[in-house]
Amino acid sequence: MRFGARTDPGLVRANNQDSYGHRGPLFLVADGMGGHRAGEVASRIAVEEILAAMEGRDPLAELRSGFAAANEAIRAHALANPDCYGMGTTVAALLLLGGRACVAHIGDSRVYLCRSRTLTLLTRDHSLVEELIRQGSLSEDEARNHPQRSVLTRALGTAETPQVEYTELDLEEGDVFLLCTDGLTAEVTDAEIGAVLAAEGDPQAKADRLVEMARRGGGSDNITVVVVEHHV
Ligand code: CA
Repeated sequence: MRFGARTDPGLVRANNQDSYGHRGPLFLVADGMGGHRAGEVASRIAVEEILAAMEGRDPLAELRSGFAAANEAIRAHALANPDCYGMGTTVAALLLLGGRACVAHIGDSRVYLCRSRTLTLLTRDHSLVEELIRQGSLSEDEARNHPQRSVLTRALGTAETPQVEYTELDLEEGDVFLLCTDGLTAEVTDAEIGAVLAAEGDPQAKADRLVEMARRGGGSDNITVVVVEHHV
């Protein structure tokens, strides 16, 4: 397994509310929300708590308890710090285990898979615009510039019991995964993402290239990408 990662505040935001991390076979990105600097706090707590729960004895169970612990820690921090009231975060997680990949997510951070030069989105955004698309009242193009595109229907820290979505798949040699926050997908199309992931180059070069493309596209939001390449 090889991986590369990069985060960037973009060209508009004064701070970076995204966090990312990895421990052994687990990779995470998180995109925090909340006033002042609360979003930064929420995404950092989420990454720290989920990584801390990964002891390697039962990774799938530890991932689940990590999400629960992160949810509780964010809520406890918000209770104790009025500045952080209402803060929350997205999380997208990829866990590579033997021949399987487990993907977990809450919110609108995404996990893509590029296999045999074909890009597949493995997650479904927990967002208002995604609901509207599913109902048929909004097109993908309209969603891209929708004024409420950042409104989430699920997040970590905003409910007592977080509704994390899990999916699993069999790995194939050469699979390339991308975890990203919406600062990437706001500026770079899926076709462009697929072309970068399918090209030659190491994962760090691909991560750097994706961030550069998002910045050139306007960099309207914080941008975080983690590229993971699976090799037996
Ligand atoms: Ca964002």
